[in-house]
Amino acid sequence: MPERTIYLDHAATTPLDSRVLDAMLPYLTTEYGNASSIYTLGRHAMQAIDRAHEQVAEVIHCRPTEITFVGCGSESDNLAIKGIAYASQKKGNHLITTQIEHHAVLHTCHYLERFGFNTTYLPVDAYGRVDPDDVGRAITDQTVLVSVMYANNEIGTVEPVQEIGRICRAKKVPFHIDAVQAAGSMPIDVAALNADLLSLSAHKFYGPKGVGMLYTRQGVRILPQLQGGSQERGRRAGTENVAGIVGAATALRLVQEELPQVTPHLRALRDRLIEAVLTIPRSRLTGHPNERLPNNASFCFEGVEGESILLSLDLLGIAASSGSACTSGSVDPSHVLVALGLPPEWSHGSLRLTPGKENSEGDIETVIAALPGVVEKVRNLGL
Ligand SMILES: *Cc1c(COP(=O)(O)O)cnc(C)c1O
Repeated sequence: MPERTIYLDHAATTPLDSRVLDAMLPYLTTEYGNASSIYTLGRHAMQAIDRAHEQVAEVIHCRPTEITFVGCGSESDNLAIKGIAYASQKKGNHLITTQIEHHAVLHTCHYLERFGFNTTYLPVDAYGRVDPDDVGRAITDQTVLVSVMYANNEIGTVEPVQEIGRICRAKKVPFHIDAVQAAGSMPIDVAALNADLLSLSAHKFYGPKGVGMLYTRQGVRILPQLQGGSQERGRRAGTENVAGIVGAATALRLVQEELPQVTPHLRALRDRLIEAVLTIPRSRLTGHPNERLPNNASFCFEGVEGESILLSLDLLGIAASSGSACTSGSVDPSHVLVALGLPPEWSHGSLRLTPGKENSEGDIETVIAALPGVVEKVRNLGL
């Protein structure tokens, strides 16, 4: 067994930053109060939650009251989409999204179709980019929401969300951005992005698992999807995950503050991976050549099973993905690669390498040295 895992799957999840753990620890130990209680211990918890709202608001340039802490990124997507849809039933029943969204968005739209809503799933080009003009053309007087991701979790393509937001604002249709994958390596400014709603998840940027955030612009009405107490200004019932909320806010602040130092490092690792992997015969880059996340290098190899590559890499102590963690184990090629128009001989052989801040150039060189042999072996054996 190799001594240490080389972890290149930061799009699936990230290790917890030790500074985030330090910020969380008091709320997992001595500060165990319920934030709804009126005695000192409870008030400490409420103060910590208030500070977390303020911190997140300062980082993404909004008001503290526009932030709702929820249970994960998927819940944030659900709350945004169902929350708007159910609050807007008198206005219309049409949703617009894209064919390459995360399942937390796609399956939420499918679900709403059982209750009288209909959805337009916009196509993307061969690089995974949505045409903003397509969004404008799809909007009707029945449209209650447009939802487009900031960056795709499988292929790393960054979408023209700012321009899409401008079009939605002009047509007075609320615009939701799933920024879960982008927040670890792209600036998040809800005003600059023209977002009305925006979803985040802490475990994608060195925060704890099981904490999401939803930004809802003041004046945009959503119906809560969990009934109970009036926590989070009535938007999300349930005793707050104080440690998780503190951790999420700390992680977001740190990752966004450190973008100027970390991004060049990530880009260098990504570009070295792309340059080296594309020398492997019958390989291609997936996603956009330039408009892509600083830490996403994703590929397809013709005539190879992606899963076999992953298993071989795992034996060498390298953790990678074939694309979406949520679809691994399924035999169908990913909906994202299908939307790009990739033929099955290619789309089954996908590999996603997503470095993080703790990876070194040495890690990348180890992977680059191993990968050509792995692909050749898997291809020759027809695995
Ligand atoms: C990971 C991810 C989600 C889901 O977030 P969870 O916190 O894991 O539920 C949603 N959208 C995108 C783009 C993601 O990458």
